[in-house]
Amino acid sequence: MTILVTGGAGYIGSHCVQQLLAAGQKVCVIDNLSRGHREAVPSQASFFQLDLGETDELIDVMKSQRIEKVIHFAALAYVGESVENPLPYYANNTAGTLSLLQAMRQSRVSQIVFSSTCATYGIPEQIPVTEESAQTPINPYGWSKLFIEQILTDCAGSYPNFGFIGLRYFNVAGCAMNGSLGEDHSPETHLIPNCLNTALGKQSHVTILGNDYPTADGTCIRDYIHVEDICRAHLLALNALTPQANRFYNVGLGSGFSVLDVVQTTEQVTGREIPIEYQARRPGDPPVLSASHEKITRELGWSPRHTSLTEIIESAWNWFQKHPDGYQGLGQGQGPTASPGDSGEQA
Ligand code: UDP
Repeated sequence: MTILVTGGAGYIGSHCVQQLLAAGQKVCVIDNLSRGHREAVPSQASFFQLDLGETDELIDVMKSQRIEKVIHFAALAYVGESVENPLPYYANNTAGTLSLLQAMRQSRVSQIVFSSTCATYGIPEQIPVTEESAQTPINPYGWSKLFIEQILTDCAGSYPNFGFIGLRYFNVAGCAMNGSLGEDHSPETHLIPNCLNTALGKQSHVTILGNDYPTADGTCIRDYIHVEDICRAHLLALNALTPQANRFYNVGLGSGFSVLDVVQTTEQVTGREIPIEYQARRPGDPPVLSASHEKITRELGWSPRHTSLTEIIESAWNWFQKHPDGYQGLGQGQGPTASPGDSGEQA
């Protein structure tokens, strides 16, 4: 069976492709390369440069590659950008996913693991957040994903063979422990890469977006989860997919760290000073997010393996030091390779 991975050239998608290959799966990647990197896709995976909106071409790929299941990562995923410019979020994340689902239906592919987000919870009523918490997003990114959660639920209610598992990620961070894959966004807005780019001298300081939140040090608290732990959750979800599966799981470490905690830990890991400057809050940011992962632990047997913020930042620092320009300059074929058992983590 072949697994279709949308967004497999992106940060989380490429790490997942590596784990799938290491587990002996056949993998086909589609990515429009608007934010992903062709160099991040191991040569053992087949690759098609396609946009989610190209329904007919998606159908051709699903049929010719004999796709059995889909893992759907491809999305725009910046909270701040979604507030400034919501339409691309609804076009890509919501309408794009609809196109993918229509292509699946016409190709008789009926099972999907979907990347959802803690941003669907908005400002949670209680911390840690459980899957039953109210979902009232406070930014278009969260809404663009919540609409798809509803559409998936409706599909499972109406189409007998349709099954899905939605994973609500918290803050994905870190890089492959074997150093073969990294995090390379353009534009870069995430906190840990910004701290590491400052440690490398590529930027003069880290801007802290708000220090008047109702938290102990006034900065936002987030739950940082290692990218390989997130990917292991996908492999477990893939195995648990059945017709009529209709489930959502939080995937997070279960503990929260403030923005200042992250800056200080990065200073310890890198041994370099990280100058900071304070600015106003970023619209769309909830003060505190951390996950209860009790449900996915109980039902799928998942638990995080990389449980310290230090370890998570160390794995990213390893990549950033070796690849200060990211994937730029790495030719195709010089990126990662993977064969069963030789790289990545396994479920
Ligand atoms: N943040 C910050 N400075 C930055 C980037 C992020 O203060 O340069 C804050 C941001 O406001 C949020 C937290 O760090 O509270 C994590 O943001 P990130 O963009 O990494 O992930 P998000 O929570 O948006 O998915």
